Amino acid sequence: MNENNGIVKTNENYDYNKMQADLQKLKNKYPFLQLENIGESVQKRKITAVRIGTGQNEVMYSGAIHANEWITALVLMKFIEDFCEAYTTGKDIFEHNAKDIFNNSSIYIIPMLNPDGIELVTGNIREGSSEYAHYREIAARYPNVTFPSGWKANYNGVDLNLQFPADWEKARDIKFAQGYTSPAPRDFVGFGPLTEPEALAIYNFTLRHNFRLILAYHTQGEVIYWKYADYMPVDSEEIGRIFSKVSGYLLDTTPPESANAGYKDWFIKQYNRPGYTIEAGLGTNPLPLSQFDKIYSDNIGILILASII
Ligand SMILES: [Zn+2]
Repeated sequence: MNENNGIVKTNENYDYNKMQADLQKLKNKYPFLQLENIGESVQKRKITAVRIGTGQNEVMYSGAIHANEWITALVLMKFIEDFCEAYTTGKDIFEHNAKDIFNNSSIYIIPMLNPDGIELVTGNIREGSSEYAHYREIAARYPNVTFPSGWKANYNGVDLNLQFPADWEKARDIKFAQGYTSPAPRDFVGFGPLTEPEALAIYNFTLRHNFRLILAYHTQGEVIYWKYADYMPVDSEEIGRIFSKVSGYLLDTTPPESANAGYKDWFIKQYNRPGYTIEAGLGTNPLPLSQFDKIYSDNIGILILASII
């Protein structure tokens, strides 16, 4: 499944241009794939959503909201390709018929929510450029964060997963107390919820749909977070247990210091439906590509079951 004779190469750093090129190649090979640009980053890079399937049951998977977690974009892109291949050849994927899933569900995937930050972390911003100088200046105020590999935020130095209207003020108070009081490589909540175009793009996209559940992909920890505050969406814990079983990841409650203002927090609050943060892989971000095959095989069950469960 993970050999590199397909379109999506899983043995090279994955960046914005590779992803956009792969999306076009996938669209050419699999014309039933639907692409939609749902917004732009601060630096005007496209945020693209992919739709696989035509069915009523809508689900949503997002990746790479944090810059140094770009391997999650690669996981989702590889999944798109493998699913299309299984659909075209009439094969099963994780023991489920891809055609049945395609007809019954619509899987929406935003592989890369934070393209600007990813360009920095993958080394695509030239050191002499004004863009690089801008990042360097923000990072200089937070010398404890390794630069650029520790960068999680967007171009404005806002942590996009602390931008959602789900106890945003609580997140602000916690992160301010930790010292993240201004634009930073990570953990700065911004000057208000949804001030950043990337966060707003997925927020509006979500509101335009009727998602039965969402998966928000991050690295690392091999853990699945399913709770927000006291919400208990129907089936949420049970589905979490199934995801835990097929992945080998631990099902856990979010640590209190990061339990607010995330995308999955807002989704649960808004809809009272199941939402999961998946912390894939183990180690220091950005995770090395040597982990890709294990991450992918651990997560394929979640990616399939989330569309039919
Ligand atoms: Zn993350």
